[in-house]
Amino acid sequence: MDFRPTEEQELLRRTVREFAESEIRPHVMEWDEAQHFSDELLPKLAALGLAGVQFPETYGGAALSAVDYCICIEELARVCPSVALSVAAHNGLCSAHISLFGTDDQKKKFLPRLVQGEVWGAWGLTEAGAGSDAAGMRTTAVRQGDGWVINGSKTFITHGRIGGVMVVIAVTDRARSHRGISAFIVERGTPGMSPGKKENKLGMRASDTSEVLFDNCRVPADQLLGDEGQGFINTLQVLDGGRIGIAALSVGLAQGAYEAALNYAKERRQFGQPIAGFQAIQWKLADNATRIEAARLLTYRAAFLRDHGARTTRESSTAKLFASEVAVKAADDCVQIHGGYGFVKDYPAEKFFRDVKLLTIGEGTSEIQRLVIARQLLAQ
Ligand SMILES: Cc1cc2nc3c(=O)[nH]c(=O)nc-3n(C[C@H](O)[C@H](O)[C@H](O)COP(=O)(O)OP(=O)(O)OC[C@H]3O[C@@H](n4cnc5c(N)ncnc54)[C@H](O)[C@@H]3O)c2cc1C
Repeated sequence: MDFRPTEEQELLRRTVREFAESEIRPHVMEWDEAQHFSDELLPKLAALGLAGVQFPETYGGAALSAVDYCICIEELARVCPSVALSVAAHNGLCSAHISLFGTDDQKKKFLPRLVQGEVWGAWGLTEAGAGSDAAGMRTTAVRQGDGWVINGSKTFITHGRIGGVMVVIAVTDRARSHRGISAFIVERGTPGMSPGKKENKLGMRASDTSEVLFDNCRVPADQLLGDEGQGFINTLQVLDGGRIGIAALSVGLAQGAYEAALNYAKERRQFGQPIAGFQAIQWKLADNATRIEAARLLTYRAAFLRDHGARTTRESSTAKLFASEVAVKAADDCVQIHGGYGFVKDYPAEKFFRDVKLLTIGEGTSEIQRLVIARQLLAQ
């Protein structure tokens, strides 16, 4: 075991941090207020390799490890969780699904565009009536001639309005339950596919979230992704990786909130001294610093195991569950340490407080993570 980052990882962290500080920090509140999705950021993210962190160089990816990926997501989330969410959905869901289960031809056709930042990737599993119980989805894909016809709708899709390539999960044989679900690659502009309602969100407001509607949307047979009937099973493997990304996002958000609280506690004076002098504040800071370190270690462990080819269902859910709940506490304490100033938009505390709640919900709620972990424990 070696808990030290390599020199390359330290350089990577510094590089992404500098980028986030200079290119993102100045706009964070403006994008949040306007619910502005920063499309213009994609080429800059791509130039740093952040549009294809773990994908092979043959497709234009940065070919970095899962641990490196965590460092990137953490550093983006420390400054702007919305941007980190976009990068995580693009890399960890859409592109990862194609990379893990696509044919060579599919990878050659779609990965370079995603990985080199030509288009944003979207990934559609959730439906209005099927969230935690995703296998209960109603969207169907029916084989017709040399293609598939998709009907239905997906809800809460990150990049639903702006994604250029979307992986869509649909029922192909209802009688076979979760073994009758398949995945498809659908390009933006395909007739019959259209964005639905844009969500007006509590937090993560600078990330694009919307419905995506399918009305007799025809996709060629060679855009079936993975084997027919394996879409849901493959999705669970994609989520094993995706949840590590959300854990890293949680660590980064928690770190950002903790740093904001620490700095404020040193500056703010009450009763003739900085509030950092009060034990009540010190204990909050110490507890958060400790929890964040523990969350980071769980996250890196899951990523490390994935880098070494292990199936990480339990480790990914453990990291995601713990890190997201640590982040909620860090954001809550950040507001508390700021007092009334934590409640207003002049300080970053209130935004962390709003953004953080997605992390115990997206890619499986905390309740579902506990269910996944318990199932793994009981199966041993
Ligand atoms: C900003 C945002 C971005 C998102 N991006 C995407 C995306 O890109 N692609 C995508 O496919 N989805 C996306 N989602 C959807 C997200 O993954 C779902 O919202 C999430 O899985 C929960 O589903 P739900 O909202 O339907 O909640 P529900 O499943 O209805 O859950 C409601 C409550 O019931 C609890 N519950 C449900 N079942 C159980 C059970 N068996 N045991 C105990 N408690 C249970 C839940 O934990 C929760 O507390 C996004 C969501 C948001 C808000």
